[in-house]
Amino acid sequence: LPEDLTNPELVAETELAFEGALRPHTLAEFVGQKKVRGQLELLLTAASMQGRTPDHILLAGPPGLGKTTLSMIVAEETGKPLRMTSGPAIQHAGDLAAMLSSLMPGEVLFVDEIHRMARSAEEMLYLAMEDFRIDIMVGKGAGATSIPLELAPFTLVGATTRAGLLPNPLRDRFGFTAHLEFYDPAELELVISRAARLMGFEISADAIQVIASRSRGTPRIANRLLRRVRDYFLVHQSVGDRSAVDAALELYDVDTLGLDRLDRAVLRGLIERFKGGPVGLSTLAVSVGEDSETIEAVVEPFLVRAGLVSRTPRGRVATEAAWNHFNLSQPNVL
Ligand code: ADP
Repeated sequence: LPEDLTNPELVAETELAFEGALRPHTLAEFVGQKKVRGQLELLLTAASMQGRTPDHILLAGPPGLGKTTLSMIVAEETGKPLRMTSGPAIQHAGDLAAMLSSLMPGEVLFVDEIHRMARSAEEMLYLAMEDFRIDIMVGKGAGATSIPLELAPFTLVGATTRAGLLPNPLRDRFGFTAHLEFYDPAELELVISRAARLMGFEISADAIQVIASRSRGTPRIANRLLRRVRDYFLVHQSVGDRSAVDAALELYDVDTLGLDRLDRAVLRGLIERFKGGPVGLSTLAVSVGEDSETIEAVVEPFLVRAGLVSRTPRGRVATEAAWNHFNLSQPNVL
């Protein structure tokens, strides 16, 4: 089986170093997301003019769109160190207390998948975000007391694929929420040509176009496809032209729309088992053996954006374009 090149959620260990090498280091280098860039720029500049730590920032959006990269940029632009952790790694309030109490003044704390943090830690985080203070509980039962602990001022950058899952008190404590959008093909072309330059290999403009159109609106996937295309050029000693790109992507089973295996399973399920819908999210999720959260946060946003699925009050519906994509004809709806 070919590896699932277009799944934005999976990141192999070996890919991390590669991703790191291609990461933009400043807002100016960061391609696309113009609105978010402008908003962040203003927020960082104002904070620096007033000599204070920038407000806490929540980055929301599907995987692979640049949330981790932006957190690194926030640290670089403010000239402060960055500490990285993730929601699933914070299973007890104590994990968080240890981290918070060791932060340097102005440090940027990045919490990926912040919606998966333990509840008890969430409550500690509210106070920390608001007052740069935590209460540490000592002892148990009637003899328990809490000891207040002052923290150095810091900027929390939280990332989530599901902003809707965050409890309101947590969401409210972010000074700014950035909603990252899928990249359009022109933006992905910029991501790819930049990456090709950094990787030091030549590729034609129309080859870049093909990769961009099959990257699922996601820079992570664009970079990944570029890497496979580079391998292909190398092995086949081909020049960086379009036909070689087509052959390389064909070899790896990359869909013409950039759909990954799960995208296709969901669409086919919707069409074949439910006659195109409407069908409820959880029924659809069960039919492909995935949890609803993944379907809603990872799969569906792109399918909706690509015009393949529409959300109706009665459930999810496959559009005509979805039927056409699989060369199936939509039954007449009476
Ligand atoms: P996320 O945290 O949202 O899953 P990452 O920040 O890890 O996504 O980005 C994945 C990869 O895509 C990284 O290698 C990064 O260099 C690249 N990337 C993401 N956004 C951009 C962008 N706007 N410009 C250039 N490269 C980007």
